Amino acid sequence: MIRVTFLGTAASRPTVGRNAAALAVQREGDLMLFDCGEGTQRQMMRYGTGFGVEAIFVTHLHADHILGITGLLRTLGLQGREEALELYGPPGSRATLDVLVRLGSERIPFQVPIRELAPGDVVTRAGYRVAAFAVDHGVRAVGYALIEDDRLGRFDVERARELGIPEGPLFGRLHRGEPVEVDGRVIHATGVVGPRRPGRRVVYTGDTRPCADTREIARAADLLVHDCTFGEEEADRARETYHATAAGAARTGREAGVRRLVLTHVSARYADDPRTLEDEAAAEFPGARVAHDGLVLEIPFADQDDGSA
Ligand SMILES: [Zn+2]
Ligand SMILES: [Zn+2]
Repeated sequence: MIRVTFLGTAASRPTVGRNAAALAVQREGDLMLFDCGEGTQRQMMRYGTGFGVEAIFVTHLHADHILGITGLLRTLGLQGREEALELYGPPGSRATLDVLVRLGSERIPFQVPIRELAPGDVVTRAGYRVAAFAVDHGVRAVGYALIEDDRLGRFDVERARELGIPEGPLFGRLHRGEPVEVDGRVIHATGVVGPRRPGRRVVYTGDTRPCADTREIARAADLLVHDCTFGEEEADRARETYHATAAGAARTGREAGVRRLVLTHVSARYADDPRTLEDEAAAEFPGARVAHDGLVLEIPFADQDDGSA
């Protein structure tokens, strides 16, 4: 299971209906935050993500993406947390992130190791990795891609039975690609096990103009979450402030061939009624949608419908 919860979808400042930027991603028991704007902890309560955060990945140091870190860490401390919480940011972010961790007179009763991630750097976890990539936001900023490991190929049970392989541990070994021996015959995985299948890929740009690095890392992604601060009528402003328009973001999603595109970081002007943004995006990428606070997406495997082994 990968579940993505939009905790905050506003650009620059919160509105009545939209909180500052934050995205929660849950994968098989792991909970990660991507950006942590002011008020993120209340959004986590409201939308039921739980507080078992393992790591926070910050895209850049604009205030609307980081001011929620101090409060969240304080609350976790009051809850008696002891496990370390990893904090990641772009190059040059360590000193500021350290201030956010230490701010106030209370001490946090758990470790918060801070690590800067340059484009290309990767955090490896069991079954997946989080890779930082370059974006175009005029300040030091990165986007993040959650990339699952490849899955084993499909196991052809019928074929295995025909070959006289007894069900049990030999099935498992064959599935992992090891040759097995049955009655003196060596049977290879080829022919019984299909090619390895890709895992899922979820890409979050943070704030950025449309750029080639996003297109590259989002190639065939299951979900792309892209900056969409402005509409077409403010295209010049989007360029000047290193943000994307709905159409620009949608073009990036189309060129990357992503399966699903969701736009976020919506300027206050469109906050109450993002239909203009959605229409402009849909012209480039049918099915594109603008996120709202509390939107939850479950991300299936691309081939999930045809069963799995
Ligand atoms: Zn922002
Ligand atoms: Zn920004």
